[in-house]
Amino acid sequence: MGSSKFVNICGAQFGGGAPVRVESMLKTPLDNADGCIAELDALRQSGCELARVAFPDERCKADLKYIAEKSGVPVMADIHFNHKFAVAALDCGVTSIRINPGNMTNRDGLASVISAAKANGAVIRIGANGGSLGSRHTASYEDRASALVGAVEEQVRQLTDMNFQDIIISAKSSSVPETVRANFMLSAKYPFPLHIGITEAGGGMEGAVKSASGLAVLLSQGIGDSVRVSLTGDSVSEVRVAYAVLRSLELRKRGVNMISCPGCGRRRVDVGALCERVKAILPVDMPDGVTIAVMGCEVNGPREAAAADIGIAGTKSGFILFKDGNSAASGEIGELEKVFSPCLRDLLAKRVSRR
Ligand code: SF4
Repeated sequence: MGSSKFVNICGAQFGGGAPVRVESMLKTPLDNADGCIAELDALRQSGCELARVAFPDERCKADLKYIAEKSGVPVMADIHFNHKFAVAALDCGVTSIRINPGNMTNRDGLASVISAAKANGAVIRIGANGGSLGSRHTASYEDRASALVGAVEEQVRQLTDMNFQDIIISAKSSSVPETVRANFMLSAKYPFPLHIGITEAGGGMEGAVKSASGLAVLLSQGIGDSVRVSLTGDSVSEVRVAYAVLRSLELRKRGVNMISCPGCGRRRVDVGALCERVKAILPVDMPDGVTIAVMGCEVNGPREAAAADIGIAGTKSGFILFKDGNSAASGEIGELEKVFSPCLRDLLAKRVSRR
């Protein structure tokens, strides 16, 4: 699964068979350093493993240095246009930077970036983006997916020619088919860790679905070592959606795996309302990998509920609760919390003692 080569960023392995890492990007401008720290803290709590931060120019050096020191999440500085910004970012102590092959081509400048990266033991991500492909690339290739690959290839060659190997590669577009084609090509050609995502995917459900569609095609084929779900909206939502995708593909177990039926005309309970009541009972520090099922009736309900750690199925008289595959209790729907809570406490106690 994933690339054969790997890199380490602040002790976390990317690629080489490591778990698929979850990333996000700060929405807070860098000159609001305390706001950045608050956002990074929320990202850390949500499970973010690498946070990119836009580093627009050298005037933000003090802010970048401050957040690189204080952040509980490894920080990757995102650099465009000017190699001097990349050198300045590395000077601030970040251990990874992203450069854009569409807009950073000066060979001497790149040599100074590589020299600074080597001195700091830093990783360089070559991140090509459909929106910043130059005419030089688009005119030379038959389609935009090939142009993205061409842009990455050119910069990989530059870095490896200068004997630099701590590389992550990435090619993103706002088109799912284009991104998928580009990443299939990159994955077949290079052993380097591959960061994947659909760029400018939009917001809300539309953005989540678009991102999930692209990520699922790639990840299900073993392509991709880290992901970012790019959403218009808050960064924590990006991380939540990313983990939901990875849980669905059974690649990561972070968070609770909630199973609930759609609630058809046979339902005995309001499934949506029951889900909300169950979620309200769950503690914020739920251990990873717990499956909870909420089913509307006794048709499919008992079997699905019995396969979960804790399952509930609606019945004519209320609900039946399953624990570890066995029917454990039943009651009227108003008694849910009274029955569910001790069952959950018991499950959590067993999980903690197994750690
Ligand atoms: S479990 Fe029951 S209520 Fe839910 S979708 Fe299936 S048949 Fe309908």
